[in-house]
Amino acid sequence: MITIKIPSNYRAERAYLLHIIFEDRLGISYEVEPGSENHTIIVLPNGNTIIFEDHFFSLYNENKSYLSEENLPAQVDFLVNRDYFQDGLAVFFGLAEMEIQENQILLKADLPAQIFFLLSRWEEKVIQERDELGRPKEKSLFVVKLHLNERPLVDEYITAIASLIQKSGYEKFNVKKHYQVIPSHDVDFVKKWRNTFHAWKEIGGDTFKRRNITRALYNFTLWSASKLKLLDEPNNTIDELIQKSLINNRKAVFFFMSGGETQWDNYLPEDAEIIKRWADKIVASKFSLGIHPSIEAAKNADLLKEELTNYKQLVQYQICCSRQHYLKMLIPETWNMLDDNNLGWDSSCGFSHHVGFRCGTSYPFRVFDIDSRKILKLREKPLILMDTAIVEHMKLTEKDAIDRVRVLKRTIKTYGGEFVFLLHNSSLRAFEYRNHKNFFEELYK
Ligand SMILES: [Zn+2]
Repeated sequence: MITIKIPSNYRAERAYLLHIIFEDRLGISYEVEPGSENHTIIVLPNGNTIIFEDHFFSLYNENKSYLSEENLPAQVDFLVNRDYFQDGLAVFFGLAEMEIQENQILLKADLPAQIFFLLSRWEEKVIQERDELGRPKEKSLFVVKLHLNERPLVDEYITAIASLIQKSGYEKFNVKKHYQVIPSHDVDFVKKWRNTFHAWKEIGGDTFKRRNITRALYNFTLWSASKLKLLDEPNNTIDELIQKSLINNRKAVFFFMSGGETQWDNYLPEDAEIIKRWADKIVASKFSLGIHPSIEAAKNADLLKEELTNYKQLVQYQICCSRQHYLKMLIPETWNMLDDNNLGWDSSCGFSHHVGFRCGTSYPFRVFDIDSRKILKLREKPLILMDTAIVEHMKLTEKDAIDRVRVLKRTIKTYGGEFVFLLHNSSLRAFEYRNHKNFFEELYK
């Protein structure tokens, strides 16, 4: 048992952090004592102490809150000490310095506040720069701006804290690890083409607007083959996706839409019968079903409930979880709504134009509501890689895409997290992905 002394303000936030770090990740039992100082002090059974100077919460009045764009970190420095940490620790609250004495280690880097910053996603509430969907612009996110998005900072900090504790003479614990590869599939378009007119509109667009004859021929061949029943409808790839997971012994999850009327939503009630048929196959393969809430459902509790109710009525199975369409989230409102509907986890915290760790971790974690200042039952299972980000936005060749996947997996394996990837049902046969078949395979390995 260790004792942790914490300052008297922002107790709920600090208690959340202790839960995540010590209970969830390190499996160390601890008791909390109110401290008389401004710092977080870990007291080990042998009397040695580890001190984290407070460079965040103590700066803000609890009634006025820290939730303002001007309080966002702007730069990063690196704390290097090869005896304790493998890589330089990124420091953005406090100083990149530590003092080591015989019975005490003092860190001037406020690692607890940094972990809170990354997991609570409070920057997403305060960033003013938004895109047309109302999402914070990805390039405004701290880890993207500072090119830290492919480093699991939270996992690095927790490993560093474990190392500090071990080197101070307390070793009766192990950092928890459970490396897994989790395929996930958002079904945005049940069919690639609604009808003949729709198909010809795309082929015409390829020819005259995009001036891409290869694409036009590709789509024409696809359309003719499906018309002649030589091939399935191009987006009917559910069997293939199921097979990929079965062969690689992975547990997949499929997210279906169940409503939505904005220009970004693609749900059509006439697809219900197909969705039900696919859901039967998915559940028969012992895979999970999640909901893919519409754009408006990210902020409208009644709409989310309605979409969930209709979806459950249609498929008649348990719905484990959720991923927002276009990853459209309002923090903390969307998390709260999902929690109120008893969904076990969300997997919307990822990037659409980058890969890596939006929350600084690949390890699922319980989320914290920064407004009501409470820990929720809901877990976030961070999304690490999306097919469209790699192929359409980053425009990586197949070889580079495969290398990127390998590097990400190696990183995640080191820290024992989850490689949650998103492969759309509509990508398997799409023109843009025709040279990326081995990339698909690599995702599952
Ligand atoms: Zn979607």
